Amino acid sequence: MTLEIVTVACLSDNYAFLLHDPSTGATGVVDVPDPAPIESELFRRGWTLSDILITHHHWDHIDGVAALVDATGAKTWGNAADAHRLPQLDHALAAGDPVKIGAEVGNFMDVSGHTVGHIAFHFPDSDAVFTADSLMALGCGRLFEGTPDQMFASLGKLAALPRDTTVYSGHEYTAANAKFAMTIEPDNPDLISRVEATAAARAAGHPTVPSTLREELNTNPFLRAHIPEIKSRLKMQNASDVEVFTEIRARKDRF
Ligand code: ZN
Ligand code: FE
Repeated sequence: MTLEIVTVACLSDNYAFLLHDPSTGATGVVDVPDPAPIESELFRRGWTLSDILITHHHWDHIDGVAALVDATGAKTWGNAADAHRLPQLDHALAAGDPVKIGAEVGNFMDVSGHTVGHIAFHFPDSDAVFTADSLMALGCGRLFEGTPDQMFASLGKLAALPRDTTVYSGHEYTAANAKFAMTIEPDNPDLISRVEATAAARAAGHPTVPSTLREELNTNPFLRAHIPEIKSRLKMQNASDVEVFTEIRARKDRF
């Protein structure tokens, strides 16, 4: 059995995700930017929240956790290493610990970079990874705490997942990311079609999250620092992949 996954738009551009295990009725949520839209989606579907999965400590991912715990008694899961700045954790996760939504067993990955201690949740049987502000649709999170090397290593872990994995990231930033991606790789046909599809989706008011890992590998400049055409466009033919990644991240910060 695989998870039924529902995207919930929160605040101005955040996403939360409901993860429902039909075999047990367990329902998790990844991040709680705002409890209200999450509670109404749960109510609409007749689902009872059992678990709250937290990716990182930024307010726009945890602000509603306390309210949802009060309302539902759901158990919280997050990185033990970040417990000092997360809401109270019922499951403080250390390396190798499983993450369970009912009968569905997943794992977590340290994807530090945006923050140190940011984690992603991977549910292999559902081909789903929840990346929040690490790997994003056509982008990656800004480096508030980590180094470019850390983010490069984190994105490398995510890039090694099966290509059919669906990537559930934390924000609707794709249209802005698309403009930047075109400055790095204007002749990439996959990128050009994705930019067009993104514009059409946004014009119709549709979300561009989730995406697939395959799409990201083919179009996301932050996963493509090894591509020779990008290196030569940046005049960095002899630079290492991580040096090129660092340059792309720096350009995005200035963009
Ligand atoms: Zn964040
Ligand atoms: Fe965020």
